[in-house]
Amino acid sequence: MRLSVVIAAGGASTRFRKALPYSAKRPPNKLLAELGAEPLLLRSLKTFASLKAVCEIVCALSPELLGIVKGWRKTHGLSKLRFVRGGKTRAESVYRALKATRPAGDWVLIHDGARPLVQTAAIETLLRRLKSGRAGGFILARAVVPTIKRALPVSGRILATLDRSELFEAETPQAFKRSILLSAFKKAPAQERFFGTDEAALLEKAGYPVHVVKHDTWNPKITTVNDLELAEAYLQSQSSRACPWRVGLGADTHRLGAGRKFYLGGLRLKAPYGPLGHSDGDALLHAITDAAAGALGLGDIGEFFSDKNPKFKNIRSAAMLEYVLKRAAEKGWKPVQVDTIIHLERPRLGPVKDKIKMNLAKLLRVAPDCVGVKAKTFEGLVPAAEARVECQALLMMGRRT
Ligand code: MG
Repeated sequence: MRLSVVIAAGGASTRFRKALPYSAKRPPNKLLAELGAEPLLLRSLKTFASLKAVCEIVCALSPELLGIVKGWRKTHGLSKLRFVRGGKTRAESVYRALKATRPAGDWVLIHDGARPLVQTAAIETLLRRLKSGRAGGFILARAVVPTIKRALPVSGRILATLDRSELFEAETPQAFKRSILLSAFKKAPAQERFFGTDEAALLEKAGYPVHVVKHDTWNPKITTVNDLELAEAYLQSQSSRACPWRVGLGADTHRLGAGRKFYLGGLRLKAPYGPLGHSDGDALLHAITDAAAGALGLGDIGEFFSDKNPKFKNIRSAAMLEYVLKRAAEKGWKPVQVDTIIHLERPRLGPVKDKIKMNLAKLLRVAPDCVGVKAKTFEGLVPAAEARVECQALLMMGRRT
């Protein structure tokens, strides 16, 4: 079996783009919005390109996508990809791309560019049905689960409760015999040809049998910003299921100077000097904060608390750690375990090591036996004029349940 794939990507997606909250990152088209760090459209292109039976992918593109998507052919090795300009409606875009497919493909799969989560397993379920060859088309669909009412649009008066066993939500890809779909387009009355919301409707009207093919993967169409956020959460839950742990590494050094309070691990040490810095100079909490940010790809402590910003002058480092832990919690992660090393010549940490450990356990909300604090000196190798405190932290984060 040889398949041509047509991807409908001709829409301007103006409403979606305007609804995006972050103007600086607003993409020129919805299909370039990122999902799992990849543009929406690229995700489904890659999925179809990986299928052996697919001999070509013809994309109907809106003008602002053309240059960018052409570049993907090279950068992502998408040699099966070709392009046409999109039309005024979705159906017109599909028709243009369909006419550009090569007759060698006996079946055509039509797919919405805005369904980025389509899975190979679902496509294969659809393809298995094509082999029976008895219908003009097969479409991926989901059985409707909610109770559906038919009601008057204005008054809202219910006319009927529909029989769910006969209701299905149409998705894409939709598979059609190429010759039949072409002739259905040609035969459709001009006023109907380019206004259908899917191609199955065109064949149904022309009297060809079209079948739904049920599947159990999640294949949503991204229409609103909320859809995109849901899809992102879904991808994250999938990847965290594969790996429920993250590890972050942090290190920090502060010079010591007279007249400064000495904070370490959130505690005040007794000393006539302390770490110099824009904040309270707590190198141990800075190392742990950097480790937490690093574990989740959030950047580093300087990006959150610039030492150029007077607002953060003498800020307590426990507040900085708390801020990053809150960001981590929003992403669904919490500290699980930490191990640390402190290098400091004076004061000696023996008497306060346990107190530091207990305080770290409290700040990270973990049990004390999940906190390691190891104190070392510089073995007298650091001259008094270069007195400093150096800390390293290795932090493990786990999924919040
Ligand atoms: Mg620091």
